[in-house]
Amino acid sequence: MVCLVIKNGGPAALPEWKALFAHLMPDLTVRDWGDPALKPSEVEYALVWKPEPGRLAEMVNLKAILSAAVGVDHITRDPDWPKAVPLIRMGGEEPVQQMEDYVLWAVFSILRDVPVWRVGQQDKVWARQDTPPRMSDSMRIGVMGLGSLGRPVAMRLARTGFQVSGWARHARTLEGVTCYAGPDGLIPFLQSCDTLICLLPETQETRAMVTYDMLAQLRKPAGFINVGRGPLVVEADLLRALDDGTLHAAVLDVFDREPLPASSLLWTHPRVLVTPHAAADASRSARAEYVASVIQALEQGRDVPLRYDPAKGY
Ligand code: NDP
Repeated sequence: MVCLVIKNGGPAALPEWKALFAHLMPDLTVRDWGDPALKPSEVEYALVWKPEPGRLAEMVNLKAILSAAVGVDHITRDPDWPKAVPLIRMGGEEPVQQMEDYVLWAVFSILRDVPVWRVGQQDKVWARQDTPPRMSDSMRIGVMGLGSLGRPVAMRLARTGFQVSGWARHARTLEGVTCYAGPDGLIPFLQSCDTLICLLPETQETRAMVTYDMLAQLRKPAGFINVGRGPLVVEADLLRALDDGTLHAAVLDVFDREPLPASSLLWTHPRVLVTPHAAADASRSARAEYVASVIQALEQGRDVPLRYDPAKGY
């Protein structure tokens, strides 16, 4: 019997997890992370969200760690996480589709100046604008990060009729998307677009990467969407860019501190839409299906995609 321990949704979620895995992998033993009777040496697979530092290191027979999220920074911030154990990111169709939907909503919100309508509605002001709305085919969108999420997002935007460019570490070819790569490609990439979407992972290289100077490179009117991670952006620079008009609007899903503190100026900024880290969040059944497929592949000695690479940091 293979043993999976779960830290995702708390003990209340355990019956649902058990029912899902009973159907998908009847031979799997499913245990709760907080079960006082759990012996760390029993655990072979761990499906986790924000594990307490040091706990994974005690699980000496771990064959793989499965992140309950697409990002893994909530695991790798534990200095003692067992780095020799494969760390697999959450995958499947659901988070990709959800991210595409969210980004489309965010892009159209910037295109149609929704922050102005939001403030108008709050203040009961009929906030009609003098100028006609922009057209989607005039909007130039840049996607930073062309990974498992950035690639489908960029191609969906291109299919929807936007002009799209993308930037990543390595050069690549994507249908309908003009691609730039590496440090040399960054400035030409930024200057090619008016709306920047951040879909990078949080690594040593990407932390605090989005600065005022970078946002100032964008064409006008400039928009910014952050669905990567909050620490990628220097928040003071973002506010400065919004205040002085360098940025016309921003849609933000991720923040330096989450939940976003009540004192944050971003909550009430007239040019900002805030969402609560909600862009992509796969259902339990989709997660269970994905986790079962990963465990089955690893048990059969097959490799799996979406494996964290410690050398790259993502
Ligand atoms: P991947 O690891 O598949 O892709 C990462 C991309 O970023 C790659 O294209 C990579 O380049 C690029 N990249 C990494 N470092 C650099 C760098 N220093 N310079 C330039 N490009 C770089 O990640 P995903 O697409 O699966 O996910 C991206 C992030 O989205 C996650 O890490 C997570 O933080 C966030 N996320 C947010 C969610 C939300 O609800 N807001 C939900 C899910 C994920 P290359 O292709 O050349 O390797």
